[in-house]
Amino acid sequence: MRSCCISLLGSTGSIGRQSLEVIQACGMKVGALTANSNVARMEEQARQFQPKLAVMMDEQAAADLKVRLADTPVRVAGGLEGLLEAAELPQADTVITAVVGMVGLRPTMAAIREGKRIALANKETLVCAGQLVTEEARDFGAKILPVDSEHSALFQSLQGCKDRGEVKRLILTCSGGPFFGKTRKELEGMTREDALQHPNWSMGAKITVDSATLMNKGLEFIEAMHLYQMPPEKISIVVHRESIIHSLVEYCDNAMIAQMGTPDMRLPIQYALTWPERVVGPATPLDLCSCGPLTFAQPDTEAFQCLALALAAAKTGGTAGAILNGANEAAVALFLEGKIGFLDIADRVRRAMEQVKVIQDPSMTQVLEADAAAREAVLSA
Ligand code: NDP
Ligand code: MG
Repeated sequence: MRSCCISLLGSTGSIGRQSLEVIQACGMKVGALTANSNVARMEEQARQFQPKLAVMMDEQAAADLKVRLADTPVRVAGGLEGLLEAAELPQADTVITAVVGMVGLRPTMAAIREGKRIALANKETLVCAGQLVTEEARDFGAKILPVDSEHSALFQSLQGCKDRGEVKRLILTCSGGPFFGKTRKELEGMTREDALQHPNWSMGAKITVDSATLMNKGLEFIEAMHLYQMPPEKISIVVHRESIIHSLVEYCDNAMIAQMGTPDMRLPIQYALTWPERVVGPATPLDLCSCGPLTFAQPDTEAFQCLALALAAAKTGGTAGAILNGANEAAVALFLEGKIGFLDIADRVRRAMEQVKVIQDPSMTQVLEADAAAREAVLSA
């Protein structure tokens, strides 16, 4: 069933803004919008899309927004309570989770318990608590549809596959980021500005840094394990600089089915909202004759140690994902504040993974404790 009314968590961000373009182009309604502190952009969006509810995580920003929207029928709420209310909004059949970081976990769980369709961009949620989230979705009959381009490509390449036993391997493509081909030595001096230059995609700051360290691909590896119930040995990563093939499924007969397109997030966002239908939308078409040769290479886990750490966490399971993610969020924040160097990100994540004990089959409380302990380990290093 195609989405009609959407609750959009993280509407002022990169995915959030592109989601609104898709929603508008496809004639869908907006039930709720949420952001952290960008009041000016939220006011603009609320005036244009007239949601029932507009939420600012930051309470001061919520108070400010309330004044700005006093002449409209839009209700304003603040804090985590507001975010949860947006996730549970009765009018919305679909929730797009486009907030950044594991702050998305509780609202995602709340939306799942209401049986909503989840268009999931917020990969950190699955990395931290993939097992709990997917079990809850199964129990409450909530469908999770991927927004991440690689996972959408896998989802599209799996359409028509009735028996997952036929799948030999999921292959995630990786652009290689702005530092592709650099040695560890060369990576040492890379600055915030260098890391924020992504060759193919324009995204929020945190995921752009994750793409530069290749942690993003590691997080996506764990995301794929949970979304498609695949063991780590049945997932591989290939560097594909052009970002034209968004990922592939290799079947037991050695057929490979891939999804191709321009690097435009509006297509995976739209498919998550319209599946199982396809409709005309705003994504840019691909001109095959001008996209040049397509290349493939092995990722360099020696230079890009964040990827090696994530693959180790994927194998360990349990709270290892929450520890990896919490440590990475804290370390990337320090890097963006100019407090640590580029290679320190991996060093701090490694230290947290060594210090914090992994628990298998964790409860939600144990996931949250693992996340907090990992952040603490990074900050006290
Ligand atoms: P942005 O940083 O551009 O946007 C993040 C959004 O979340 C903003 O609306 C922001 O509000 C809000 N936000 C930030 N912090 C909090 C908080 N503590 N509580 C509540 N809301 C908060 O991120 P992206 O759009 O790039 O990424 C969003 C998610 O999608 C991430 O999980 C990312 O990994 C994933 N993703 C992104 C892709 C992309 O192309 N950008 C591709 C695939 C996945 P405000 O503006 O007020 O700060
Ligand atoms: Mg991706």
